[in-house]
Amino acid sequence: MSKKEYILAIDHGTTSTRAILFDHDCRICGISQKEGSVDYPSPGWVEQDAVQIWLDTMAVMADVLNQSGIDPDQVKGIGISNQRETTVLWDKKTGLPIYKAIVWQSRQTSDICDEWKSAGYEQTIREKTGLRIDPYFSASKIAWILENIPDARKKAENGDLLFGTMDSWIVWKLTGGEQHITDATNASRTLLCNIENVEWDQDLLEMFNIPESILPRIVPTSENYGSTAPYAFFGAQVPICSMVGDQQAALFGQLCLEKGMAKNTYGTGGFLLMNTGDEIVRSKNGLLSTIAWQIGDEVTYALEGSIFVSGSIMKWMRDKLQLFDKVSQTEKMAKQAGTTAGVYIIPAFVGLGAPYWDDKAKASIVGLSLGTNRNQLIRAALESMAYQSRDVLNAMERDSGLSIPMLKVDGGGAMNNFLLQFQSDLIQVPVERYKVNELTALGAAFLAGLAIDFWKKEDLSIEMDKRFDPQRSAQEMDQRYQNWQNAVKACQAFKS
Ligand code: ADP
Repeated sequence: MSKKEYILAIDHGTTSTRAILFDHDCRICGISQKEGSVDYPSPGWVEQDAVQIWLDTMAVMADVLNQSGIDPDQVKGIGISNQRETTVLWDKKTGLPIYKAIVWQSRQTSDICDEWKSAGYEQTIREKTGLRIDPYFSASKIAWILENIPDARKKAENGDLLFGTMDSWIVWKLTGGEQHITDATNASRTLLCNIENVEWDQDLLEMFNIPESILPRIVPTSENYGSTAPYAFFGAQVPICSMVGDQQAALFGQLCLEKGMAKNTYGTGGFLLMNTGDEIVRSKNGLLSTIAWQIGDEVTYALEGSIFVSGSIMKWMRDKLQLFDKVSQTEKMAKQAGTTAGVYIIPAFVGLGAPYWDDKAKASIVGLSLGTNRNQLIRAALESMAYQSRDVLNAMERDSGLSIPMLKVDGGGAMNNFLLQFQSDLIQVPVERYKVNELTALGAAFLAGLAIDFWKKEDLSIEMDKRFDPQRSAQEMDQRYQNWQNAVKACQAFKS
């Protein structure tokens, strides 16, 4: 009897790195996870150790095989989804990073971005990349490392320095330094890629003073890129067949394959993406235009609203305020609160992303009274995840001219039934959660499996777990939403 075959997804997020095995029926057959550590060396700075990320990747791959008793050669293809924008520069000869990975959430490059704004680059950047000038994207992080780390520029000039987002870094390691590549979705988040022709843009490289020699080659999202080095995958040479930014991976995993379909992810950040087909929709309401995926020569685009802090506010409450031991307890505590009694939390810990784009905004709690208790704060934090999603959803409907009939959700926060019911009430449309909550990993697996005919498009399926229908009146929810908007304005007005 021939041995069963699998696709392995490496799902590297900001919070954790996971290895997940999927079988032909798109079922999870093994999962291993390691929580990553994040450093906050100064206010607004967010960094991670790229070497640790690689070690975690190795550890979860080994663990998932061991646990499930599957041989490395039963894995027919590897797909990678990754936290986007996070930037590492490493020495080509030693394979060692020359600085920590600067995480997408980090604001340490806001001065560089201010300079670029003053130089009048905004319009050109918007037209070419679909993005805006913001520390969020990789370009200013690269510029910061080149400027601040001794000898970085010299190394780049000598051709000894490589840049990558986490997809490039992991693939370079997996292939023993053979492949220095990134896919179109990840490239589209760097602020260096022209999203019309999917190429590095010479004008932008010149404007930012970034040498092309450090950049990876841009490849499609689903393709056999080459095999793992034997030492990197326990003796087996397995084709690596997809690399995809985590949010685009979730869009694919949610099977939002037609124009107009949208999903929302409540992870470390919150991300609403809508498939806009082969059209680049230019936002007038603070959203981004980005590449959803490239398969062969065909590029699909998306409209995106990126919220910087979503589920991570719960981690802050757990770790810094010690309001509970496990994030999973918060559903019950929020329900016990009954209401927030007028408390609103604006989680602008690293400024505000879409649709506000205010990197100077500070996180705030408003509406406190002497009666405010722990459960009400927890409830207000969970509600903030939903309010921010409504901000983005409203902007998306204005930009696209479409009204979203229902919202597909995933990410760590989607485990929380209170949050999803509140979300449905707030946007007055059904919210749907699927049985496999690992839709980011599933998206990467789907894209990898399609590249090697492990699956055909018609084989791809996901099963619904629970649907949440609106239970409260639009009038009541609109009133609360108005209060939320006032609270955001108050938070933006406060400068310290
Ligand atoms: P990422 O891919 O960004 O690493 P995940 O999708 O794994 O993130 O989600 C992790 C986030 O979800 C954490 O910030 C965590 O606080 C949040 N989270 C996990 N479980 C819950 C829950 N039951 N309720 C609310 N938030 C949750």
